[in-house]
Amino acid sequence: MTKTRNAVAIYARISQDRTGEELGVKRQLQDCRAEAEKRSWTVAQEYVGDDISAYSGKKRPEYERMLRDIAEGRRDGVIVWHMDRLHRQPKELEGFVEVCTRAGVRDVVTPSGDLEFANGDGLLMARLLAAVAANESDSKRRRGKRKAQEIAESGKPMMGGPRPFGFQDDRVSHHPAEAPVIRQLARRALAGETLTSLATWLQDEGITTTQGKEWRTNTLRTVLTNPRMWGMRVHQKQVIGKAVWEPIITEDEGERLRRKLLDPARRTNRSARRYALSGMLECGKCGNRMHSHPRGQYRRYGCLKGPDSRGCGGVFIYAEKLEEFIAEAVLYRLDSPELHRTLTEDTTAPDEVRALEEAIEADAAKLDELAEMWADGDITRAQMKTMQSRVEARLEDNRRAFSRLTHPADAAEYIGQGQELRQKWHTLNLSQQVAIIKAVLHKVAILPATTPGRHGIDPNRVVPEWRL
Ligand SMILES: [Zn+2]
Repeated sequence: MTKTRNAVAIYARISQDRTGEELGVKRQLQDCRAEAEKRSWTVAQEYVGDDISAYSGKKRPEYERMLRDIAEGRRDGVIVWHMDRLHRQPKELEGFVEVCTRAGVRDVVTPSGDLEFANGDGLLMARLLAAVAANESDSKRRRGKRKAQEIAESGKPMMGGPRPFGFQDDRVSHHPAEAPVIRQLARRALAGETLTSLATWLQDEGITTTQGKEWRTNTLRTVLTNPRMWGMRVHQKQVIGKAVWEPIITEDEGERLRRKLLDPARRTNRSARRYALSGMLECGKCGNRMHSHPRGQYRRYGCLKGPDSRGCGGVFIYAEKLEEFIAEAVLYRLDSPELHRTLTEDTTAPDEVRALEEAIEADAAKLDELAEMWADGDITRAQMKTMQSRVEARLEDNRRAFSRLTHPADAAEYIGQGQELRQKWHTLNLSQQVAIIKAVLHKVAILPATTPGRHGIDPNRVVPEWRL
């Protein structure tokens, strides 16, 4: 319901917050003006009060002036950013309501649009107070968001969350040890050194993140491509202007790092698309996942030692022969009577499924509990790790058993087609091949080579774990 008003008052007040006071008022005024425009109201006067007098009980000249103007019939509406900007005490509110009621001013609104006077009785008071109270938490959140925006626009840092690498606790001064590290990392990355190599170097130097963690390539990428490093203020993932701190690296370096490290063409794992067994191979020595790791012209899978993969670095295998071998085994299996039996016999016992479900849930809860116990200091990190790996191993087994029991149909369309698929195997694209392999094969452990450097396949090194 929008009525025309020609002489509206806007009231803003400097908050008790110690920083960004002027900005706070500017924001309130902007919001209130927008509200007036939305309602097609004409603003006659803006009043800007301040907190100090509100607290000391002294006169509040701006507030008093507004009340006077309302009482004398010169204002026909009031827009205030929030009721708590207008009054600190219920008593004040009473006085305000009285003045408005007597002057016939009923339009008292906030930009959030939830306060309007209807009539000036005690009931209204109660309603208003309730509305103010109910609005309080919402308004705090709104103020918080506003505040963050203001701080960002002023180029100052936001103080929550972990300290950014390269800066001291004030988030403005350079960290004497870390800032030079950033410069060195930037220089080396731009010279073509890989993030893996840089993360390894950090690890060897004993340099951790500001949270004391070891570097991963993706955390390193995030740091090196963060415009904060070249003196830019980022707010909600957007650069919104210059920051108040000095840049650690130049803007030119920063832009080049972004191009180099965030280029989607570089980041898509080209090799992954060529490696049919990606994610399915496990190191037979340490149990870690194996990754694509070509050497020269040869594609290989390997257990890698780097900062991201944490393997033992002890097992490698040439990809081509292994993939052929696995594909052959998969196709053979698709035609095996054994598989037919598995699929045709409905062996799924509901009790067994339910028991597995419960075990999985219980273990998942246990993992949370362990993390909590560690956080509370009830167990040491080492104890947590030990128990965690025990629970995780069991969880993994149960999950596998569960999917075996509940999803045998994944492979149904390939069953009995081994012979046919074999003939057109090389015409299938990689994702088709992967789908077929994954339908029947859960994972493959690769044992260390007994005759190193051998390109052919040693079947004894390959230990498949069938899904079906
Ligand atoms: Zn390993």
